[in-house]
Amino acid sequence: MIFEKTVKGVKEQVKSWREQGLTVGLVPTMGYLHEGHQSLIKRAVEENDRVVVSVFLNPIQFGPKEDLEAYPRDIEADCRLCEATGAAMVFHPEVTEMYGENFTTYVDMTGVTQELCGKSRPTHFKGVCTVVNKLFNIVTPDKAYFGQKDAQQLAVIKRMVRDFNMNVTIVGCPIIREQDGLAKSSRNTYLSAEERQAAVVLSKAIAGGKQMLLNGEKDGDKVLRSMTDIIEAEPLARIDYVEMVKWDSIEVHHKADCPVLVAIAVYIGKTRLIDNFIFDSEI
Ligand code: AMP
Repeated sequence: MIFEKTVKGVKEQVKSWREQGLTVGLVPTMGYLHEGHQSLIKRAVEENDRVVVSVFLNPIQFGPKEDLEAYPRDIEADCRLCEATGAAMVFHPEVTEMYGENFTTYVDMTGVTQELCGKSRPTHFKGVCTVVNKLFNIVTPDKAYFGQKDAQQLAVIKRMVRDFNMNVTIVGCPIIREQDGLAKSSRNTYLSAEERQAAVVLSKAIAGGKQMLLNGEKDGDKVLRSMTDIIEAEPLARIDYVEMVKWDSIEVHHKADCPVLVAIAVYIGKTRLIDNFIFDSEI
């Protein structure tokens, strides 16, 4: 497996793969990889001749009071996981390599970024779109893989690709969970033992809400109320949002009469965790 820190190096390698007629898949990550990331890499390896995993803790998608400094890192372990899973290259640039002096161009978006995480993290998706746009230009992948764990991000990237006529297919992948239901996340490492137990309340609320919709409940307010009650019963939990929106335009919509995304963000102590499910009554 190739370990590359420079944009030039990635471009040269991809050029050589292209000359051999090989297809290229990209899995963008912020590192500290777990089975959730690994499921994306596996899928990419199945569907492409060569897979590039980017490991880049993108500073511009963090707000000034967020956890950029504390975010866990372990590039050696990340490389071992990528190699064992069949990736051809890890791209691990320095911040200065991605954002040189006088970097001033950003990708901004309206609509899809307004609700959910866009509300509590107002500059987040501008940072995400900018870095993903750069990664697409550097790697020029045929396909790029994103987890439904970050469902709004998936919708945002799909929209950017459509709006900018980009030549890349976006593949959404299902949420990978711990045995007790907690969605796997690099941020789970922040949780104390007591908080880790309390964090199960997110997947409990998700499972409860999903069951109501499966049972035929169409009233979004009732579903969201019931999920809120489940979360509020946990003393260590503090709700950021519990919301139902249209999938994938991310407009608030409290009726399950079309494909909907039900998404939550909850603080467990100081750690902000997210979870969601997509419900399509037609399926
Ligand atoms: P991150 O490193 O948190 O930016 O995540 C990189 C990619 O992995 C994103 O597309 C995430 O949605 C995806 N991902 C993270 N956790 C999971 C999970 N538990 N299941 C599926 N995909 C995930």
